Amino acid sequence: MRAVTGARELQDRMVAWRRDLHQRPELGFCEFQTASYVLDAVEGLPVRVFRGAEAQDISRVYSRNEARLATFAERALEAGIDPEQVERFRREGTGLVVEVGAGNGPLVGIRVDMDALPVLEADGNHLPAREGFRSRYDGVMHACGHDGHTAIGLGVITALSRFADQLPGRVRVFFQPAEEGTMGGGASMVALPLVGELDAVIPIHIGLGVPSGKVASAVRYMATTKFRVRFKGHGAHVTAEPQAGANALLAAAAAAQQLHGLPPHSEGWYSLNVGTLHAGDEQGITPPWAVMELGIWADKQSVNDFLVGRVKEVVEACAAAQACSVTIEVFGKAPSAVPDATLAEVIDEVAGELALSPLPPMLCKAGEDATEFVNAVQAHGGVGTMIIIGSEIAAGHHQPHFDFDERVLADGAALLAKTAVRLISQSR
Ligand SMILES: [Zn+2]
Repeated sequence: MRAVTGARELQDRMVAWRRDLHQRPELGFCEFQTASYVLDAVEGLPVRVFRGAEAQDISRVYSRNEARLATFAERALEAGIDPEQVERFRREGTGLVVEVGAGNGPLVGIRVDMDALPVLEADGNHLPAREGFRSRYDGVMHACGHDGHTAIGLGVITALSRFADQLPGRVRVFFQPAEEGTMGGGASMVALPLVGELDAVIPIHIGLGVPSGKVASAVRYMATTKFRVRFKGHGAHVTAEPQAGANALLAAAAAAQQLHGLPPHSEGWYSLNVGTLHAGDEQGITPPWAVMELGIWADKQSVNDFLVGRVKEVVEACAAAQACSVTIEVFGKAPSAVPDATLAEVIDEVAGELALSPLPPMLCKAGEDATEFVNAVQAHGGVGTMIIIGSEIAAGHHQPHFDFDERVLADGAALLAKTAVRLISQSR
């Protein structure tokens, strides 16, 4: 890659990266083209790259969809990605860590995520469509800004690499797979010492209701758990011997109602949603199976954990009432985390110097496995905080018209590069 020399040039480069990535969105753990793009973008820079099993322990994920992996691997091959690389990403995971600097000072981590969503991107009056960078793949879209996150991560690496040999410490940018659905992308990366060794970590998000020019430097997210519940009954002829049946549909329907009837919790706010329910084969047979997916989101870990117990009790009782058996799979989860105020203060100070306005601590009502990074670093004596870099958005996150103000790319890269340099310049 030709060297980037000025701030203006880097800004243009980040917009180009973002628009390229926007056209090739990939779902969680399937970021074959995206990870390859990151590798190409840092090629030739004075950086250290960790990939595959060096960057994550894929055995730690909560769920990975094999059929989906096959589809996206095929797309990557069609797009000309090296088959060996695709195979390695498939086997060991698509996460990457890029490290810059060589000094013995502090080690600072920045975490960005790379995955997209199963959303059909809007056409017509929508900037990516008007400007010719709409998703190439119908039904998959960067509808949460993770294309921007990846571009910001590349921007930070590129900016810092210009004076890599003068850095008194090291900065690691974690390019995480599979944030959406909290299927264990974060958990698979924090399982390796690359995260635990950090003195400070800053996972980022853009938008999320924070306007352009503002930065929220101490963000909390909801603890979340996602369940897939399988009810197993027995199909019987409904007139010949209905008494022999065990009705999985009724068990699941009762469970859905009972779960939505759970009371509020006095110690925290939570939301529970049964989002899918499928059951049965035909009207003349007692429904022998039902599958339900539900999620809980709580502003306190203790409330999340309390509800995990209640969900199990309710589905088991409803299954028993219909003589069904039940299995409960947790296919996604993320903990809550508490941001470090001292680190948030440094970010606020740098934000002020860049004419960005700091916001007070806030709770974002969403699950985000960015918290895995903060908890892992704090557990080893370091500090961490989740931040949101402000951007106006064209529509809500995860919506077909979602788009962000690309000026956030320059704001984010400048804020993070400058904060990282300040942190590694402090004594350990
Ligand atoms: Zn997101």
